[in-house]
Amino acid sequence: MLDFSIARRRMVEQQITSRGITDLKVIHAMLTVPRHLFVEKGLMDQAYSDFPLPIGHKQTISQPFIVAYMTEALRLTGGERVLEIGTGSGYQAAVLSKISRQVYSVERVADLARAARKALDLCGAYNVHIRVNDGTSGWEDQAPFDAIITTAGAPLVPEKLKQQLEVGGRMIIPVGTLGEQILYRITRLGAEIYNEEQLIGCRFVPLIGRYGWQSETGD
Ligand code: SAH
Repeated sequence: MLDFSIARRRMVEQQITSRGITDLKVIHAMLTVPRHLFVEKGLMDQAYSDFPLPIGHKQTISQPFIVAYMTEALRLTGGERVLEIGTGSGYQAAVLSKISRQVYSVERVADLARAARKALDLCGAYNVHIRVNDGTSGWEDQAPFDAIITTAGAPLVPEKLKQQLEVGGRMIIPVGTLGEQILYRITRLGAEIYNEEQLIGCRFVPLIGRYGWQSETGD
């Protein structure tokens, strides 16, 4: 049996800090969240490796570096209410739970949401709230949010998500084609004023829904 805390420390040294992540809150979260609880039992020995892993339903848990990068790009200070679209395994939500007050996470596949809830409960992430729904409409009842993170690739930034951002709030979202995207940071500067920055290239599974792709093949 691998000692997971050693694997985790090695992951942070070799994949996170050495590639430029400096936010101590993010580093601390990556050092403490037990990533192996968010993958299938048969893949546990690969949980801290430098790549995404399948989680069923044709979905994946993101590579550790991209989780750290997106979390740092949100520029959280600690007291925020954060919306995540695409709960998946629940790992990104668990990382966010360490550095925000409340995390609201929407997942369209009920089975994944159930498994994520279990893993989050196992590691005591009780400030994560999960809802099964099409997240391209956000989470109206809980809006506005200080930060929004979308962990599936969108053809365009859904208007509803922009509207659910607090003034001053940041959204990180991959936008592009089904095959590749660019990670954007959208900052809401005023009621109708948004600043857009392009960060890095990335590859995510598609955001499927009313204001996303219509299907996995983009029809
Ligand atoms: N954040 C996840 C990675 C998720 S992969 C993790 O840490 O493991 C992307 C997830 O987005 C998949 O689980 C997929 O089912 C979900 N998804 C795709 N379109 C969605 C939508 N419209 N609303 C909510 N979830 C969606």
